[in-house]
Order: sequence, then structure tokens, then C-alpha cells
Amino acid sequence: MTTKYVYSFGNGKAEGKSEMKELLGGKGANLAEMNLIGVPVPPGFTITTDACTIYNKEGEEKVVSLIKDGVENAMNQVEEIMNMGFGSKDNPLLLSVRSGARVSMPGMMDTVLNLGMNDEAVEAIAKKSGNERFAWDSYRRFVQMYGDVVLGMKPESKEDIDPFEAIMDDVKEAKGIDNDVDLDVEDLKNLVSKFKVAVKKNTGRDFPDNPWDQLWGAVTAVFDSWMNPRANYYRAMHQIPEEWGTAVNVQAMVFGNMGVNSATGVAFTRDAATGENVFNGEYLIDAQGEDVVAGVRTPQQITKEGSLRWAKLSGVSEEERAKDFPSLEEAMPEAFKELDEVQQNLEDYFKDMQDLEFTIQDRKLWMLQTRNGKRTAAAMVKIAMDMLKEGAIDEKTALLRQEPNKLEELLHPVFDKKAIKSANVVAKGLPASPGAATGQLVFHADEANKFETSILARIETSPEDLEGMDVARGILTARGGMTSHAAVVARGMGKCCVSGAADCKINAKTRTMTVAGKTFKEGDWISLNGTTGEVYEDKIATIDPELSGDFGTIMEMADKHRNVKVRTNAETERDANVARKFGAEGIGLCRTEHMFFEGERIVRMREMILADDEAGRRKALDKLLPIQKKDFTGVFEAMAGLPVTVRLLDPPLHEFVPHEEENQEAMAKEMGISAEIVKQKVEDLHEFNPMLGHRGCRLGNTYPEITEMQARAIIESALELKAKGTVVLPEIMIPLVGTVKELKLQEEIVRTTAEAVFAEKNEKIDYLVGTMIEVPRAAVTADEIAEVAEFFSFGTNDLTQMTFGYSRDDAGKFLPVYLKKGLLKNDPFQVLDQEGVGQLVEMGIEKGRGARENLKVGICGEHGGEPSSVEFCVRAGMNYVSCSPFRVPIARLAAAQAALR
Ligand code: PEP
Ligand code: MG
Repeated sequence: MTTKYVYSFGNGKAEGKSEMKELLGGKGANLAEMNLIGVPVPPGFTITTDACTIYNKEGEEKVVSLIKDGVENAMNQVEEIMNMGFGSKDNPLLLSVRSGARVSMPGMMDTVLNLGMNDEAVEAIAKKSGNERFAWDSYRRFVQMYGDVVLGMKPESKEDIDPFEAIMDDVKEAKGIDNDVDLDVEDLKNLVSKFKVAVKKNTGRDFPDNPWDQLWGAVTAVFDSWMNPRANYYRAMHQIPEEWGTAVNVQAMVFGNMGVNSATGVAFTRDAATGENVFNGEYLIDAQGEDVVAGVRTPQQITKEGSLRWAKLSGVSEEERAKDFPSLEEAMPEAFKELDEVQQNLEDYFKDMQDLEFTIQDRKLWMLQTRNGKRTAAAMVKIAMDMLKEGAIDEKTALLRQEPNKLEELLHPVFDKKAIKSANVVAKGLPASPGAATGQLVFHADEANKFETSILARIETSPEDLEGMDVARGILTARGGMTSHAAVVARGMGKCCVSGAADCKINAKTRTMTVAGKTFKEGDWISLNGTTGEVYEDKIATIDPELSGDFGTIMEMADKHRNVKVRTNAETERDANVARKFGAEGIGLCRTEHMFFEGERIVRMREMILADDEAGRRKALDKLLPIQKKDFTGVFEAMAGLPVTVRLLDPPLHEFVPHEEENQEAMAKEMGISAEIVKQKVEDLHEFNPMLGHRGCRLGNTYPEITEMQARAIIESALELKAKGTVVLPEIMIPLVGTVKELKLQEEIVRTTAEAVFAEKNEKIDYLVGTMIEVPRAAVTADEIAEVAEFFSFGTNDLTQMTFGYSRDDAGKFLPVYLKKGLLKNDPFQVLDQEGVGQLVEMGIEKGRGARENLKVGICGEHGGEPSSVEFCVRAGMNYVSCSPFRVPIARLAAAQAALR
């Protein structure tokens, strides 16, 4: 059988249906379905996405040879239904040619309207409609659109305006008019001829008069638009594969620009911003599709209620509203009534909020598109819950309709929508930690409290900046990726952060930041959008998110269905409490090093590191012990009754020592030694590749006294809480293990210390000793490791770093290029690389459980809160995922979806 490339529809019949989105694209599939359910749709046909793929691979000639017959047959049907002829001299059929991918990519690809127009057709249409202006307006629009989309007549540089708009402006100026609607027939004729001359001059080609030439030109232009830079960018952003291609929808034109009884508009069956169950939308009388979105004229509201609300918001009086901006409900009551019925039918039928396009031609309603409407997180939650309550969908559907990542919008402060519209973007970095922040610039962490709300701008942050990061409203760094210090810490804090904004030239010395040709000084206002990575100049108003009751209900529903636990990565009592509020079922990673940075602690830590020998280190560690204990007590209390995984010290020691002369002198004074000695020690600690250097269990194995102190602090704290009746379930985790011997040595120190404390206190507590699997060798020898480890926690940040050999700190230099060139589909530090790193994870679990059947397995890398990675972890059989507090609800939902799929 030969492959079918063309599917026709019209008059209540269709060869396609809504399930055929892969082949017909979303628009084509739903145009077919609307026909089948009796919605008025102009007849037409859809050329499949397969044809686009062939076009992209084998070119125009090949594809035309394959689809020509199908197109001609389908055209005959359209001609029959419309009782018109494509290319006919006295009764010409005009067409719209529109793109339509599997998933909607709004505004990314091309459209041509009024196709089939030429000098003969325009006369016939003028005669038949008795409306000469309408005919010439349609011709003018066609030459303009076709010239742009098919013939490539674009502005020469980004500073230039559209060449057609420039000609229009000249004509309007010469006539002294402002609006397109004031152009008369002679003006429009003049424009058509001027446009054609310009096309010839700019492209060297005559404007095609033959309708069939026009059609093939438009079809291939739509295919081409699949690969335009906008569409490429959108695909990369939304992970839409290039192979999908776009379908092409060819339909009989219906005209909203046929005079005062015609109109065109877009509508939503519910409010896409709030989810409120109100039919709403905008329309324009005597207009064609692009006029509504282009903002040339002020669109009017569809319902009277919407119109009244709009007038109130825009400060328009009732008199003016009723006269100049009446709703469709008021202006065309019959067409409105029909549209209202159709919208309700479509929503009932597709069981989701619909985004509609319609045209009214001489009082008759035609539907041009229906699709599931894009919506905000708040609307996503509310619409699903309302539809569940209405009985339109079941619980499973309601849950699967939630986009986990979108929930983030509901958890952080957000910019006021109105204020953001007029804000000016000066740079773009990585959306490291979501939310909105507005504040005054500071360039040093210890100055973050200079202003009531500050934005800390650093080239990159270091552990020393922690306190300042906590004080600041938001964090901006010029360097660093999604797992940079700033990014990880900010996410943990639930603090807005834009990282790696390379265009920002930050000078901490002069306390200035230069970007987009402007220099910002300390105290100047800037704003950050951590959800998009955008950096704005000036202050922008923010509003607190509303955690609606529906959101809570969705979460409870998710919990019923999921079969992995969700823990959090947290090291402060405050973060632990936040996470628990969000539903965390324990701590999967408490990075103890984060406990050593603030105030007194960092001094003691430095004393330990700078000590000459073990005795010196022990002296300093004795001072650190009570501090650590206090920290653990706070975290254990916050997580009472739930497991807490405490990871022993991980990062290289040089991260803790003072690098600035001033701080070195202070430290020398504190320790009673010379600044020279401190400086020398700091230099000795320098490593060429600290990420692969003296860190993780390598520290505990070279300085066992550190492990001893930490184990003691954990056990003592747990015993003291037990005495007070608090249930503590500690899990002690050894980082960066590559061989079982490294783990064994650490485990012995932990167990010996625990036994010693038990003996001293004459009391015991259950605890586990386990390890991180973050070195590839550990995954490969997981069977040996599991002989010692009672649990595994996959540290997929390091595992990704070491499997790819991409430095976590330096990948920002080449990853963007790799993503752009398609060498990688995703940033592997954000989205777990299931094919590569994932194999190590699966192998680690299988080998580990082979040696220890009840081995508890989790993940604590950043991927633990990323939906597709969570789904992988569920499939791989993990017991829990762990993520930063603000991602806990996202992981809960993603885990439920994984179980439901
Ligand atoms: C990891 O490597 O995945 C991990 C959680 O540890 P860290 O990010 O602290 O190195
Ligand atoms: Mg690690």
C-alpha cells in the first residue's frame, strides 16, 4: 500500500481524528475531530508530518512527487464543498496555509492567508462580495505575508523595520492617516503594486501570480519554518525532537475582514492565568487573525462580563466601553450564542481547557482551531481539580495533567505581572534557583545587610559567602553552572538565584557591575527572575505566592499513588522545617561542611586545618564538637521520627582557609602564629584539581580524628534527644568512596566511636552506616561495597562529573555550545543522563542488592528533584529520592506520575 500523505476534512467528514497528532500535528488532528463532532470548520486538508521529514531529508522535488496527487484530489473536494474553484477566474477559492506540529509551538512557525489572490481573483472577489475594499485589503495582506514568509523579504538588519511596514508608513504619512482601516481602495491598490515592485527589487523574483505556484511555495515555506532559528530555539527549550516535523494545514479561507458583520478572535474556555471557570477571549470586528495578536488595534472582550472587568482595569468608562469596545455578546449576540455553545461542547468533548480561534464571516461562525490551552501553574492546578470535582476527569488524569516543574511557580515569590511588562532585561544567565527577587546591589557577602533588601552580585560564590547569601534577597553570579556553589546553596535556601550571567562584568573592587553598556553601582536597584534567568534593571514589585487549597489536595492525591519516599537535602533546622512543611519524609543529604562556614565555626575549622599536627587538630576539633552537636540536634528535632542521612565532611580543605591577606592576618592573630605561616599553609593546601583531590573520605582516611569528632557529635546528639523522648534515626554516610577498603576504614572509625559513646552514656541507639555512590568505580564494584554499606545514596552530581569527565565547575564554558550544536540533549547536571550515568546507577543497584538484599537505595544529587530523573529512579527501584526543600512537592508529584504511567 502506498503511504497516505494528505488527509482531507470538511462537511462533517474527516479522514483523520484527534488521536493522530503525531502524523497530522495537533492542529490538523483537531480540525479533523471538530468536523466529526459537528463543529463548523472550513473544509481543507492536512499534509502529514512525514512529508515534512521527507522534505527535510530529500528536498522539494521528492516530496512534491509523493504528495501532488493527494493534494490535487483533496483540493477537488474542497472546491466541491465550497462550490468554488482554486484559480477560477470568476469564483476563486482562497486558502489559508498554516503549520501545525505535534505539540503547539505558538508563533514559532509560519502562516500564509488569502492564498490564491492575483489581479483576476481580486476583481472577481470584489464583484462577488460587493465589497471592493475587502477584496483589496485581502490582496494587500496576501502579498505582504507571502513576501515575508515565502519570498524571505525581511528587514535587512535587526535595527531596520519590516520593509512592507515601511512602505505602508510612507503611504499613510503621505495621506496623513494613522490607522490601516483608514486606507481606501485606491491606497490598497497602490500598496499592492508598491509591494510587488519591492519584492522584485529585493529578491530578484517576480511575485507569483499562479495560485498553484503560490501553494507549493507556501507549503515548502511552512516545512522550512520547522527549521527556522525561532523554532529551533523553542524545540531546544522544550525538548521537542527535530525528527517530529510539522504538518501543513490548507483550508478554505473564511473572512473576518468582510465588513461590520465579520470578526475574528481567540478565546479560552477557562481563564488561563487563574483557572477560573469563565469563558473569555478577545476579538476584533472587520479584521483578520494576525490583527488580534499584533496589537495594532485594541482587541475587545468576548463576553460582557469580561468586557466590564476589562473596562474597570483599564479605566474605561461604561459609556466609552459600550460605544467603542462592546463585547461580542453585545455586538453580535447570535454569533456569540453559537460560539458559547461550541466552546462548551469542545471543552466537554476534549475534557480540558481549550484555546480556540474563530472567525465570523458575514454573521456565520467558523472554528479555525482548538487545542488544550497553555496555562500558569495556578490555573493548571485549579482547572484539574475543578474538572475532577465536576466529574469530567478522574484522579489519575488530574495528576498526570500536572507539569511537576511548573509547581515551582507556586512556591516562590513572583513578579507582579503588570510590573514585569515594562521591565528592561539587561542580561540572561542560568535559571539557577527560581523565584523573583528585587533589591539593591551589594558586591560583598558581608555587606548584604547594608540594605533592607539586597541582591548579592559575585563573580562566583564561595562557602565564605554563605551568611551573606542567606541575608540577600537574591544572588547573581557571572560564572558557574546549575550545580555551582551559588546554585546549589540558593536552591537549598529556596532563594532566587541567577548564575553564570557571563555578560555581567562584576568588579568587587570598584563595587560595580557593567552590563548592556550600563554601569551599576552598589545600592542601585536590580531584579532577578530565577525561573527564567533574566536580570532586569530597576525595582520590580513582587507578590507572595498563594498556596491554594487545591494545591494541597493535588499533593495528597499524589502521595496516595507514589511508591518511593521523598526526602530533602538540608543542613539547617530552618530548611528542614520548610521541607517538612512541603512533605519531606526525612533528610537524604545533610552536607556537614555547610555547617562550618558561619561565624565562630569557620574560625575553629580553620584552626583545625592550619594546625601542625594531630594534637593541634584534636584541640580545634574539641571546640567544634559542641557546635556540630547543636546543629545536629536542631536538624534531628525538625525531622523527629524520620530518617536523617548525615554525610561526613566532603570538600577539600582549602575551601575553608582564608585566601585574602586581611583574613589571613586575623587568623594568624587568633592562633598566635605569624601571618607568613598562615599564608604558607594556605599555599600548601592548593590543589590543581580540587574536585578530584583531597576531599570526601580521603579526608577522613588521612585525618581520622575528623570522622571521630563527627561520629561522636551525631551519636551524642541522638542519645541526648532519645533521653528526651525524641525519635532519631541517624544514617551516617561516607562520601566519595571508590574502593571498599576506603569505606571499611571509615566504617570502623564510626562504629568504634559509637560504641565508645554508648559505653560512656550507658545507652544505645540504632543507626546505619552507608555510602554515597558517586565515583564510577564504586558503582562498578557495588557488590563489594554493599558488603559494608547498609545503604547507598547516589551522588549523581559527582557521578555525572566523573562519568562524562566534565568538571562541575568548568562545564559552563562548553555545555551551552554542546546543547546548541545538539551534541547533548540536556545539561547532564540537570537532567540525569539515563543512557550513560543511568547505566552505572542501575548496575550499582543490581550489584548492591545482589550482595545485600535489603539494601536501602536513594539519590541525593540535584537530579533527585528533576521529574524525568525521578521517574528513572522509580523505575530503577530506588527507595527514595532526595532534593532541595523547594523541590519536594515536585518530586512527590513526579514520583506519583511515574507510578501511574
Ligand atoms: C553529589 O555528588 O551528587 C552530591 C550530592 O554531593 P555534592 O554535590 O555535595 O558533591
Ligand atoms: Mg558529591
